[in-house]
Amino acid sequence: MKAYIGTDLEGVAGVVTFYTQTSPGGTGYEAAKRLLTGEINAAVDGLLAEGVSDILVCDGHGPGAVHYESLHPAAKLLHGRPLAPRDVRDAVVREYDICLMIGQHARAGQPLANMNHTQNSQSVDSYHLNGKPIGEIAQFALYQGALGLPLVFLSGDEEACREAEELIPGIRTAAVKRSLSRNSAISLSPAKAHELIREGVADAIRRQRENPLSPLAWPGPFVLEKRFFHTDTADAAADAPGAERVDGQTVRLRGDDIRDLIYR
Ligand SMILES: [Zn+2]
Repeated sequence: MKAYIGTDLEGVAGVVTFYTQTSPGGTGYEAAKRLLTGEINAAVDGLLAEGVSDILVCDGHGPGAVHYESLHPAAKLLHGRPLAPRDVRDAVVREYDICLMIGQHARAGQPLANMNHTQNSQSVDSYHLNGKPIGEIAQFALYQGALGLPLVFLSGDEEACREAEELIPGIRTAAVKRSLSRNSAISLSPAKAHELIREGVADAIRRQRENPLSPLAWPGPFVLEKRFFHTDTADAAADAPGAERVDGQTVRLRGDDIRDLIYR
């Protein structure tokens, strides 16, 4: 079994505040990167404990948030922006059998959820796919699902874990923060968070061997509605080929292949 790990920063224990901790130049950014990388390394230890040794980590936080010098020796890192062409990236992901998410947060608008947002925390109000609210967990799971990879484990705050469990019944999660509000949470210590992730990942691999989860796939065709906070962002989104304007703040996109749509 080969494992592909998607990472984000806002669901990491100890990272609770936008910008100072999540943007390059923020006073807490370098420390936040180390916290994320500690959690990634715990996941790698959990994989190794179950004999999974081919491990690719994909740095999913826009500006890059993996502290490369601290990365576990058993892991490789996929990073850099702009992204490689989609066909190139997809071919790499298809080399793997399962995927995991580390450091993930809940979708925009989830009450209480620490650091809740979807893609751009300053412009996106909500996304709905075929009428259902979705966030970054569904985006990742559906995209990787279309490439044949089931999402078998997620770590993040409690609300992100709840969102993942609703989306993928049977997924193994590890909650490393108790969310109190968008800017406040109760974090476990790094050591405790690492223990939960290490043990959770190992358990997810055992479960996957005994009773495998399938790649996430929703029936198409797909309609993605993107609602923004302001009309100028919607103006720009509405200029995309095939986009329909729903109202001042909302744009609708349609497609048959989820990969064409989900990250547009
Ligand atoms: Zn994110």
